[in-house]
Amino acid sequence: MLKKEIREIIEKSKKWGWVLEPDAQKIFSLSGLKTPKYAVATEAGQAISMARSIGYPVVAKIVSPAIVHKSDVKGVVVGIKDDQVLTQTLERFSKLEGFAGMLIAEMVQGAELIIGAKNDFQFGPMILIGMGGIGVEIYKDVSLRMAPLKARDADNMINGLKAKRLLTGYRGAEPINLDALKKTLLNFSRLMMDLKDVTESIDLNPVMCNAKSCIVVDARIMLKK
Ligand code: ADP
Ligand code: MG
Repeated sequence: MLKKEIREIIEKSKKWGWVLEPDAQKIFSLSGLKTPKYAVATEAGQAISMARSIGYPVVAKIVSPAIVHKSDVKGVVVGIKDDQVLTQTLERFSKLEGFAGMLIAEMVQGAELIIGAKNDFQFGPMILIGMGGIGVEIYKDVSLRMAPLKARDADNMINGLKAKRLLTGYRGAEPINLDALKKTLLNFSRLMMDLKDVTESIDLNPVMCNAKSCIVVDARIMLKK
């Protein structure tokens, strides 16, 4: 059963056909997935106090129903260290199409993974995991399974990645928390099953995993027409 707050977000998002990032983050935190600390500002004073309370450095991202791919319009700035860069960024974002606010988020460190779900007309929701960046784009290093995932499916998906060694401490890099990654996959599968009647696809791109946890730093939920 979907929580009332989640249903309300989906209802309000239907007019755009997708769920804005801050709303998607809300859905995830209600579903047991980890998100960075974040807040949404529309004017400078507010942005500054939010960034200070999250703690610099922060990431700033455009929030607009007209902008699905934020980096394409230079709508993501990472590593903002002070009030001045923050307010300049807000100033620039406010001129972008459909400006509805600036998301300010905590900077997260870790290996970048992609977790996604597609509602296949024949098989129903399919869950994908892959290594972020060139891992997926060039090497097509992904594992796919039908939802709902069982614990063993999650293990097999992670073990099936060619680049798994990069996650377990390759050449002195810190190993990531594989248990947290597995929990993330299972929670995500559960959420996708709950949303399968209303969503076309969900992309968590990236999820950042480190020795402590796995955090969803970007999310796109596309709704059915
Ligand atoms: P897009 O809509 O372009 O996919 P993202 O939100 O994924 O925008 O941001 C682009 C990139 O910025 C991410 O792939 C990630 O590398 C980096 N990034 C975004 N949010 C954070 C964060 N909270 N902490 C660290 N890096 C981030
Ligand atoms: Mg992204």
